[in-house]
Amino acid sequence: MSWINDKDLEAIRKQANIVDVISQYLTLEKKNKSYVALCPFHDDHNPSLNINTDKQIFKCFTCGTGGDVFGFVQKIENISFPEAVVKVAQMIGYQLDTPQNSFAPKVHKHQETFDLLQKYIKYTQYELVSQDGVLAMEYLRKRHINEDVIRRFEIGYVPNQKQATQYLLAQNLTDPKCGLLADGRAVFHDRITIPIHDENGHPLAFTARTLSTSKDVPKYINTAQTEIYEKGKVVFNYHRAKSFCRKNKRCILTEGAMDVLAFEKADIHESVACLGTAMTSTQLNLLKRLQVVITVCPVGVRQGQAATNKFIEMAVDNRIDTT
Ligand code: ZN
Repeated sequence: MSWINDKDLEAIRKQANIVDVISQYLTLEKKNKSYVALCPFHDDHNPSLNINTDKQIFKCFTCGTGGDVFGFVQKIENISFPEAVVKVAQMIGYQLDTPQNSFAPKVHKHQETFDLLQKYIKYTQYELVSQDGVLAMEYLRKRHINEDVIRRFEIGYVPNQKQATQYLLAQNLTDPKCGLLADGRAVFHDRITIPIHDENGHPLAFTARTLSTSKDVPKYINTAQTEIYEKGKVVFNYHRAKSFCRKNKRCILTEGAMDVLAFEKADIHESVACLGTAMTSTQLNLLKRLQVVITVCPVGVRQGQAATNKFIEMAVDNRIDTT
């Protein structure tokens, strides 16, 4: 623990109220002297997570998960202990003398792939503002997707297949884990790209819209399944929306990335998309973890009411509040 001295650690522990910290993640209910909540670490239907305010600890009586304020943040954010300490310090406004980048956070086992994908994102962002990206930019403007949204969502553009393939080969972006090549050719070309991230903000895949008006070209294509990306396990925009959802006590579930962008344009930041209509239990669990009311935004006429109803049915089975 050389990066955070014991004095700071103790001071943060003393100043942080575990109830305040956990309530930023979960909905708490007061019960006698303690608080209870639905446990986010197992499939909980009866509040079994207990918070002892005297001892400043939490404990789930079903799955056994427990610890102090740092342990909770570490577990729910899936981060290292020093990262959790820094996070709690930020939450309570404690000034750490230690520069935050002086500790080495745990390296994710797919970090190399994330870095490659981030490099590709940079490339698509560059192409969007280049001469090649003029039509793409025009399309985004027509849809009133402003520069702030373009920047925050790292929206980009990939030019024709020849250029796109050449770039991937030249930059060694050939790892199958990236899912950018199929049969030696670029999967995405002549398309606007929107990165898809995991719940912690790591880039995993892309959804891409064509600029072609031809009926033979699919409007949207997504990265096929890779070692790091399985579409049923990811909720689009979850990593950005989660804190807004908790703050505003609601989550808007839509169908596609463009629907999420439509909400963003209106300054509504708590919408997510399942990128398809078949909601999986993994996606449902992610939503459930937010512990807020889920508003289902009616999906397109194509899929119709049936898909919405199916989701509501699943949500009710999983005891998620929907409107
Ligand atoms: Zn539990």
